[in-house]
Amino acid sequence: STVLELHQVTKQYPQQKVPAIDRVSLRLGEGELLALLGPSGCGKTTLLRTIAGFETPESGWIALAQQPVCGQGAAIPPERRDVGIVFQDYALFPHLSVIDNVGFGLKHLSRHRRLSPKQIRTLAQEAICLVGLEGFEQRYPHALSGGQQQRVALARALAPRPSLVLLDEPFSNLDVQVRLYLRQEVRSILKGVGASGIFVTHDQQEALAIADRVAVMRAGQIEQLASPEEIYEQPASRFIADFVTQANFIEAHRSEQGWQTELGLVDGALVQPTTASAGTLMLRQEELHLKPVASDDAALVICDREFLGREYKYTLTHPTQGNLQARTRARFAIGDTVQISIQPNPIGLPLFAQ
Ligand code: ADP
Ligand code: MG
Repeated sequence: STVLELHQVTKQYPQQKVPAIDRVSLRLGEGELLALLGPSGCGKTTLLRTIAGFETPESGWIALAQQPVCGQGAAIPPERRDVGIVFQDYALFPHLSVIDNVGFGLKHLSRHRRLSPKQIRTLAQEAICLVGLEGFEQRYPHALSGGQQQRVALARALAPRPSLVLLDEPFSNLDVQVRLYLRQEVRSILKGVGASGIFVTHDQQEALAIADRVAVMRAGQIEQLASPEEIYEQPASRFIADFVTQANFIEAHRSEQGWQTELGLVDGALVQPTTASAGTLMLRQEELHLKPVASDDAALVICDREFLGREYKYTLTHPTQGNLQARTRARFAIGDTVQISIQPNPIGLPLFAQ
């Protein structure tokens, strides 16, 4: 069933010329994990705050568990919405122990107002176990690592057992290793308790890695809402292709033999949409094949190299196409000369109108 629904929700801050979120509609199913992905300033935090009830939209409506919470005559305050929130900066009380931090919110939620101190402790303790912090109940935030503090924040959000958890860049203050580990764990915790989640990130890999669906935002609007695979394979716009996959873009036009580009010929059956006759072709980094050649006029020079573990990412300067990026396991050195050919994924190459 539907846990959350937004219909044409618009929120504009008083001093701003354009809305921070602009006619946003979306629907979230039970137990679903949605990533909200987009560049800084595109309205991600505002969208979460509006869902939580900290901001009131000018138009549109929001429903939780199919009950309107704003718009359509409703105006339900945050503490009466069945929503947990995790912020980027943890927002823990420094003078409260772990268990008191986790229990704090419970006392202030109307749904839990009649709980006894003992019941509150039980709920808090359960949430602490859920996030793997048993044994840390009496610690204070300053004696915890960043990852542990974020676990406390997650436990605090989960303690009232909300059906929806909102996470605003929850991992962005953490070391890469902790981050990689914790994002997987947060996903399995939410799945384990059956809560739906929306997590904000500006990291495309993170969004694709752990979300069931990804909403890509731009200037207050959702530009595409689809599965991670679909976002990667069929980006709806050049902006998304650029932002999510960091692909190469080259001019292409149709000919009898296939699609002509400055990097070679591409099989016409692989280009989407099939009806176009010219445009900008998206080539993912793994679709450029590098072949070592002796230095000559046709060769490109490798001007940068990053070692990614499984493979390398190379940057090459092309005389007319600007910088190109290629990912491959083949090892080259900076300054090596190569020839590039296109080896498209069978999933097809998106083409964008100019
Ligand atoms: P994101 O989280 O994607 O970085 P935000 O939702 O924080 O984006 O901001 C969206 C837009 O709204 C930005 O242009 C930002 O400057 C503006 N904005 C955010 N909060 C406020 C506020 N309290 N008052 C006025 N403008 C705001
Ligand atoms: Mg933000």
